[in-house]
Amino acid sequence: MSVGRDDVERWIRSFAEAIAENKDYLTALDSEIGDADHGINMNRGMTAVVQKLDASSDDDIAGTFKTVGMTLVSSVGGAGGPLYGTLFLQFGLSVAAKQTLELADWAQMVGAGVEGVRGRGKAELGDKTMLDALAPARDALDAAVGQGLAFGDALSSAAAAAEGGMMATIPLVARKGRASYLGERSAGHQDPGATSSWMLMRTAAETLADVEA
Ligand code: ADP
Ligand code: MG
Repeated sequence: MSVGRDDVERWIRSFAEAIAENKDYLTALDSEIGDADHGINMNRGMTAVVQKLDASSDDDIAGTFKTVGMTLVSSVGGAGGPLYGTLFLQFGLSVAAKQTLELADWAQMVGAGVEGVRGRGKAELGDKTMLDALAPARDALDAAVGQGLAFGDALSSAAAAAEGGMMATIPLVARKGRASYLGERSAGHQDPGATSSWMLMRTAAETLADVEA
């Protein structure tokens, strides 16, 4: 099984749909421990991304990720935009010149994205951020490569790991981002960025489950 440029675009578009559908939910989560704009921010960014994709589709996989990353960086304010921008820019750098992606490429790509977000935001696992969903997904993909899982099963495993990481943010006290200003009062609430990151992994599993080699 391998993933081509059109598959990547389908994934990005389905992530944009999930964000649009869950805009109010993400914003409500951010209203509990932040400034009530995560859904608005992400939807603004992903709407701009879809407009870019509609206007041109001659990029390769790396170019598509670069377009997504650059568009998010330039259209989204707050912490989320630059962090998601970095994630996609690192995806693009990791897959440079590849026409199709095998599972090992995909795992490496997600790993590069996680390291980019970690470098940019200086958060670690357990700080109650998007990394708490992304890092377990990365670990699940690495394990799937080791076990020789099929692509679709690996993506499902990554989505489940991201969901577990998202749920695990609920009891945590935030140590990064706006939520950290609340100190102990941030506990008991699900992190908005971890929630959108789970949606990113979930839409990959949904969209790419049936990809043929
Ligand atoms: P802002 O916090 O500027 O309003 P958003 O509401 O769009 O931006 O995004 C908030 C999310 O960003 C948080 O829920 C968290 O997951 C993520 N986040 C914030 N700071 C960091 C950081 N330093 N590293 C990783 N993720 C972070
Ligand atoms: Mg916010």
